[in-house]
Amino acid sequence: MIRQKYPLTWNKEDFSIKIFCSIPNIATGILIRAGKSLFVVDPGDGILRDLNHEIGTKEILNISDIFVTHGHHDHVGGVWSLLTYMRVMNKKTDLKLFYPKGCIEIESIYNAFKKVYSKSIPYRINLIEIDKPKSLKTKNTTVRPFPVIHKEYLHNGVTTRRVPSLGYKFSYNGLKICYGGDTAYCDELAVQAKGSDLAIIEAGHEDETPDEMHMTVGEAKSIGESAKEFFLVHVPEH
Ligand SMILES: [Zn+2]
Ligand SMILES: [Zn+2]
Repeated sequence: MIRQKYPLTWNKEDFSIKIFCSIPNIATGILIRAGKSLFVVDPGDGILRDLNHEIGTKEILNISDIFVTHGHHDHVGGVWSLLTYMRVMNKKTDLKLFYPKGCIEIESIYNAFKKVYSKSIPYRINLIEIDKPKSLKTKNTTVRPFPVIHKEYLHNGVTTRRVPSLGYKFSYNGLKICYGGDTAYCDELAVQAKGSDLAIIEAGHEDETPDEMHMTVGEAKSIGESAKEFFLVHVPEH
């Protein structure tokens, strides 16, 4: 099994990505810089600590966009602390929060945040639900959300249900970073990753028998190798 040593960093000209962490059931946390723009992807537990260490308060307040792939706790666990920190530190600029339609976790966190701090949020949060994935432009970057296939177990531990899940492809200055989020093997991810300058592909499945939740290392590599460079992430650590 591949064991990644975090953080993982990739940098081309003034386009970079830093993956602080990506461990299934524990936490994810990703920072993208495109010129002066700062985006956060999948703010799991620990994101505030990692951002504080990496860019400090002033730059945290300059983060303009958060992209959430799906609502599992290892991808959204840090949203509350990030929103609250921005409030406490008096962020003035707007924040966009992108998430897949049906992701009740993000809507619940947002609604609770608005309820608790209704009269004292100094910045505007623009909640953007993505229904039909199509390219969007934010700041200097084009972002292409795309559907992926991810599931979760119900309480009985046997039955599964589909989770609203997206991957995102970020294009800046002719360079492309494709992040698949959590997904089983899917053609859409294969299409988006192909030819990207960097593909970040999860390999969260424990053995080599495919399931419909995560990818095996073999599946993940087969997609990753179609990009110019790739990282395998979300490999179980236990
Ligand atoms: Zn996950
Ligand atoms: Zn997940």
